[in-house]
Amino acid sequence: MTATAIRHDWTVQEVRALLELPFNDLIFKAQTVHREHFDPNEVQVSTLLSIKTGACPEDCKYCPQSGHYNTGLEKEKLLEIERVVAEAKAAREKGASRFCMGAAWRSPAKKDMPYVLDMVRQVKSLGLETCMTLGMLKEEQAQELADAGLDYYNHNLDTSEKYYNHIITTRTYQDRLDTLDNVRKAGMKVCCGGIMGMGEDLDDRAGLLVQLANLPQHPESVPVNMLVKVEGTPLDQVDDLDPFDFIRTIAVARIIMPESHVRLSAGRENMNEQMQAMCFLAGANSIFYGEKLLTTANPEADRDRELFRRLGIRPEQREQSHTEEEQVEALTDAVEYERTRHMFYDATRESA
Ligand code: SF4
Repeated sequence: MTATAIRHDWTVQEVRALLELPFNDLIFKAQTVHREHFDPNEVQVSTLLSIKTGACPEDCKYCPQSGHYNTGLEKEKLLEIERVVAEAKAAREKGASRFCMGAAWRSPAKKDMPYVLDMVRQVKSLGLETCMTLGMLKEEQAQELADAGLDYYNHNLDTSEKYYNHIITTRTYQDRLDTLDNVRKAGMKVCCGGIMGMGEDLDDRAGLLVQLANLPQHPESVPVNMLVKVEGTPLDQVDDLDPFDFIRTIAVARIIMPESHVRLSAGRENMNEQMQAMCFLAGANSIFYGEKLLTTANPEADRDRELFRRLGIRPEQREQSHTEEEQVEALTDAVEYERTRHMFYDATRESA
């Protein structure tokens, strides 16, 4: 079978036409593409820690961490390095292979950079893959992070350029693209996606997907989030998105970015098992596990393990030396770790 070509010249019309395919045709196409590039029964599992929570100066209308809205969120200053390293170590000992750290910042302040860089070095020295989301980065900041050993940087586009100023007014779409460019220039891998169900229309979903697919290099990870409506944010009353439209978005992301990990991200708590299984069938092959995903609830970790078992899904491991039993055990241990961990942080599903 010839693998699907990697393209960077998608048009909104083409992507819209994919989104509008009969559902069964779309899922079949997505699953076909998925099987050309991935083991269809493997899902990558990451763990996530908020290293600084709340009081963000940005006004993202979906975000409980924005200082512009009163959501009752408990704020937390930048965590001590020792605490972050202890969390990373515990996660590693229980099977995690990637450790993501998120801070609710517009961009990292000069005074905070040395701490953040040290966090990267120390977490990296544990043998973990590292990922951070810290807001906008200048070229030199991206380079410093890369030099410290940061593997991935998360920076979401959130929605289409056309709809962007309905959601965020404190920065521009171009600011977002510039940071992604700086991350790539520094040689890091990119984690970049968006949020569905914010009142956007079909063209906006198509527009976001086109932006992502037409980046000079597809993001290695593409988180597709379903809006979690948090009381106190401007989007807490927005109409629900049809779940099939969400699944369609995952399927099209899979088709047009065939080699990327498509991450079923925030909003899983509100999805039943059947919908999650449908998302995996549509090509999602990455999740966060744990009781919470930053500030929003995430399905309990043991439910994830049980769902994996019922679907015959294995957690993806980078090291090929692990046997299948070891991989399942790793997830089981990681799940147990999440369950018994007392200090669980309300972190942000940033997107920042
Ligand atoms: S999404 Fe990120 S940048 Fe936006 S308000 Fe929340 S923490 Fe700040």
